[in-house]
Amino acid sequence: MYGTVVRSAPLIPHLYRVVLGGEGLDDFADPTFADSYVNMFFLSEGAAYAPPFDTEAVRDLPREQRPYPRRISVRSWDQSARELTVDIAVHGEVGYAGRWALHARAGDRVQLRGPAGDFSPPEDAEAYLMVGDESALPAIAACLEAVPAGRSVVALVEVDGPDDELTLDSPGDLQVAYVHRAGRTEPERLLVDALGGLRLPPGRLSAFVHGEASSIRAVRRHLLGRALVDPSMLSCSPYWHRGHTDEEWRSIKKDWVRAMTAEIP
Ligand SMILES: Cc1cc2nc3c(=O)[nH]c(=O)nc-3n(C[C@H](O)[C@H](O)[C@H](O)COP(=O)(O)OP(=O)(O)OC[C@H]3O[C@@H](n4cnc5c(N)ncnc54)[C@H](O)[C@@H]3O)c2cc1C
Repeated sequence: MYGTVVRSAPLIPHLYRVVLGGEGLDDFADPTFADSYVNMFFLSEGAAYAPPFDTEAVRDLPREQRPYPRRISVRSWDQSARELTVDIAVHGEVGYAGRWALHARAGDRVQLRGPAGDFSPPEDAEAYLMVGDESALPAIAACLEAVPAGRSVVALVEVDGPDDELTLDSPGDLQVAYVHRAGRTEPERLLVDALGGLRLPPGRLSAFVHGEASSIRAVRRHLLGRALVDPSMLSCSPYWHRGHTDEEWRSIKKDWVRAMTAEIP
């Protein structure tokens, strides 16, 4: 499966929207979850092949010829137009996903697999909390749209600065708090410190906490350590780890998540 870029543009300085379409999406299945994601396979400049290709067949190629897979959330899927919208964090001229989004032009193709996912705002929650950074903003935005009408929902989002504050919508009773990373030391403390200053809505809380590994670990410790959320109502996973490429991160992620979970099971 592959997508062809229909259009692309920055949503905010550090998050680029890319809309994919074309016959390569003929078999794309309706995403089942609000946080559904796809695997996008990016190629290095010297790759001797182009989408569409067989992702299994290229597995045994030398490293520099193999694709670089990245998980990216489904921001939306328009079934009638058969268009898939993804929002990708751009963090300078680094990273296969970030650089691809920065330079994506109509007609470019990208290999895909998916969708998969596992979270939608649960019906049995009385209030919702969504926490993350630019990498989780697409999933947070999709989850906010799936919150039952009228229920309290708080979104706490870390971005670079005021220009990166994306307008968010929800049928719920939404309160949005942005925190800015620019010029701050200890970026992994930003979200948890801001969370400490927020008034959380009363009632049985569902929390969706995703983004940079050290930041979300601190938030998880705060939420569970203070019994602000029941562990069964917490969806928490580290999407990326500062200072690590996705290849480096995936090689240690399992052990890292095990250690995080062991802190407060
Ligand atoms: C289920 C899931 C859903 C995800 N959804 C999205 C999504 O919708 N949009 C999205 O942008 N990301 C999303 N991510 C995160 C994304 O897969 C990773 O951030 C990925 O590492 C980005 O790849 P890259 O090729 O740009 O950078 P890499 O090649 O992996 O890394 C290059 C350098 O950039 C740093 N870096 C990586 N990501 C960021 C970032 N966000 N900000 C600053 N520096 C960074 C790395 O630490 C490294 O130093 C998701 C991850 C998961 C697991």
